[in-house]
Amino acid sequence: MKETLKIEHGLVYLVGAGPGDPELLTVRAVKLLNEADVVVYDRLISPAVMELVPKGCAKIYAGKASGRHHLAQDEINELLARLARPGRLVVRLKGGDPHIFGRGSEEAEYLAERGIACEVVPGVTAASGCTAALGFPLTHRGYATGVRFVTGHCRSGVDLDLNWASLADPDTTLVVYMGLTNLKQIATKLTEAGLPASIPVAAIASGTMPEQKVCYATLGTIEARVAEAGLTAPVLTVIGRVVALAGLLSGGEAQETGDDPDRRTIGA
Ligand code: SAH
Repeated sequence: MKETLKIEHGLVYLVGAGPGDPELLTVRAVKLLNEADVVVYDRLISPAVMELVPKGCAKIYAGKASGRHHLAQDEINELLARLARPGRLVVRLKGGDPHIFGRGSEEAEYLAERGIACEVVPGVTAASGCTAALGFPLTHRGYATGVRFVTGHCRSGVDLDLNWASLADPDTTLVVYMGLTNLKQIATKLTEAGLPASIPVAAIASGTMPEQKVCYATLGTIEARVAEAGLTAPVLTVIGRVVALAGLLSGGEAQETGDDPDRRTIGA
């Protein structure tokens, strides 16, 4: 019912769609999708989530593929500003959480400068969604006292500008978003900075989606395993002792079968 969400001024809802499984959408996200007049969505939005958008709603694809942008970020900003009208419910749907490597805050900033309000609806970020699906935590007493989210993406031909010495901490879980193409560099730099090559690593492709594929390996072997398994984006890489808990906490369906943990690839 549109009456429940009266839009008197230009307003854009910046909505997190979670990692792919529609069951992970928030109640607020589902409500807004049901009432939206137009949905502007990304490449990361799964077909199963898009199925929840009612037929009569306009759908605009604003996805970016690495290296080749369907719409550049400033074009997306302008599009949102153009769409925002009193009485029109505009949903900008972003993968995971809009505020975690989602450029959601840049879109909100652009809109705010033009007097257009923005409401952010948080979503389940890939780090928590994908690891929960595999049954391991991001922190765990005795394994990790903290967790850090970093981007593994940089312009091609340029070295990643990360503080490797500070990231090479075996007591903290490191989650790398957008790191697939730089996996080799990431593993090498962390090892050089002192992180043991034996630290467990999981590379999760299309987490929570039917086509999910996972490689379990170590820092020393992950790049080769991922190449061997042919994982394709989106891939999330989780580095840390917590990865060793995969399957152990669920009580059933344990993945810990005595297989060499270094050679496990689990997937559809
Ligand atoms: N805002 C998003 C992240 C956008 S950056 C969030 O909060 O999750 C895009 C990166 O997110 C991808 O390159 C990948 O590293 C990660 N990612 C998002 N969804 C994923 C999924 N279902 N499976 C694996 N990685 C995912």
